Amino acid sequence: MSASPEGFRSLSAAEFFYRNREIAGFSNPTRALYQTVRELVENALDAADTHGILPVVKVYVERVRGDVGYYRVTVEDNGIGIPPQYVPQAFGQVLFSSKYVLRQSRGMFGLGAKMAILYGQMTTGLPVEVVSSPARHYRIHYYKILIDVKENKPIILEHKSWRKSGSWHGTIVSTTVEGDWSRARSYIYDYIRGTAVVAPYADIFFQDPDGNIVRFPRSISKMPPPPRKVKPHPHGVDIEQLKMLISASKATNLYDFLVESFQAIGPKSARSFLEWAGLVDPENPDDKGIDPHKMKRGELEYLARKLKEYSGFKAPRTDPLSPLGEEIIVAGLKKVYEPDFVAAVTRRPRAYSGHPFIVEAAVAYGGRIKSSDEPMLIRYANKIPLLMDMKSDVSWKVVDPKRFDWRNYLVSFPAPLLVLVHVCSTKVPFRGVGKESIADVPELESEIRNAVREVARRLRRFLSRKRREEELKQRIDTFLKYVPEVARSLSVIMGGDGEKELRRMLLEVIRRHVGLPEHEARSLEEKLGRLGDKR
Ligand code: ADP
Ligand code: MG
Repeated sequence: MSASPEGFRSLSAAEFFYRNREIAGFSNPTRALYQTVRELVENALDAADTHGILPVVKVYVERVRGDVGYYRVTVEDNGIGIPPQYVPQAFGQVLFSSKYVLRQSRGMFGLGAKMAILYGQMTTGLPVEVVSSPARHYRIHYYKILIDVKENKPIILEHKSWRKSGSWHGTIVSTTVEGDWSRARSYIYDYIRGTAVVAPYADIFFQDPDGNIVRFPRSISKMPPPPRKVKPHPHGVDIEQLKMLISASKATNLYDFLVESFQAIGPKSARSFLEWAGLVDPENPDDKGIDPHKMKRGELEYLARKLKEYSGFKAPRTDPLSPLGEEIIVAGLKKVYEPDFVAAVTRRPRAYSGHPFIVEAAVAYGGRIKSSDEPMLIRYANKIPLLMDMKSDVSWKVVDPKRFDWRNYLVSFPAPLLVLVHVCSTKVPFRGVGKESIADVPELESEIRNAVREVARRLRRFLSRKRREEELKQRIDTFLKYVPEVARSLSVIMGGDGEKELRRMLLEVIRRHVGLPEHEARSLEEKLGRLGDKR
């Protein structure tokens, strides 16, 4: 960047994020190691499931130099791969991305991998290594890249390629960062486990620096439908976006521009909107409005504001969203927590400020879930586990026992209760670029509450059944305690005979009294036998 004599100069995007790395989650060696794993795994999964490929993801964290805390993080996937000409920019230029489109994916800032690489570069001085091959490509490419921070450009240290013998496609990324494994360990394990819960259709392998291996094999081959790209919704655009849409459009009047560039605007609604906003002459059906390319700042501001205000547009489309679905969530929770009860719900799509979203929630109870004074909340945004800043998340606001009356649902703490909340949206309202907690947008909060209530009601049915069964068991046990004695006493009175017969009759009386079906009679006898053994 050029410097002026007065010392004024501008920053490149790379330098900006280099200086402000904490806003992207790279604030210290613990967070940085965890964040590196996370960014690379997100990219790996995006490259597979967003494109309809059942993911196989392998993650290795190796200790390179224990004395200074250098760790090499390698993530391998079987995704779509990267066209070789884009590899240097994808990994060497901040704000370069293939995900700047309106559809749900895990990445979207064009930042993640580069932050990990930048952080690695500044702490260890080592370059990133990438091996990649797209499907139906004949060659595999290898790159060794550093980022030129001042210019925000990749520096290619090495590039070679070789012919592919098999049909492998995918990407392997290796970067070395300074990290604190002992502190990052639990986050990384939580992250891997959390990912396995929402991606039971993925095969996930993880090897830690001590050589420990965990594997979450695929347990279901159903995948969420891949999301589709869509045009923006008029309620979601601002002035800058409007300008970009206009410069991308060849339309010469407002009417054509609106119909072409937006979802939810058809010929009819375009006309009624333009009339409502006073941008066409209502008396003249041929008036299609001015050329948007000639609009001045004030006019653009007016148009953006009116587009937001108009209530006649259809709701935003939901096909750019990719919820997990109840079956996948249930399979994932069963696989990882083996609970006694699990229920999940996918709510209908809603929107806030023109951005569509879907809330999914689940509750699981018992099994390997630890009993605690609070529900164990696991949160996801666009299938990414969120691990930090839980208490500032809108979902915590909903499930916090201080605000949500779990007793209504027969849960009394301490209880082995897990609540899962998944928000998917083309624009998740995160607090900050660290993407760790979701802001309390009212529309979102009320959907989360409704979703949690819905699954909690199902939990209540389970718990009340369980409670009834337990009460019944206790009553039966109490009755059974008296059977041997009563039978013996009666048989003595009757002359020492028929004790066995009397026992059977008493059991029959108990069975009818507690309302057990006839085929359960045997189980009572067995139980009595066991109780007798105990004494
Ligand atoms: P973002 O994920 O937000 O787009 P990243 O810096 O993490 O930003 O990645 C930049 C781009 O590199 C991605 O948009 C994608 O096109 C490409 N990319 C990164 N990792 C992979 C991968 N494992 N497979 C395929 N493409 C990838
Ligand atoms: Mg990414």
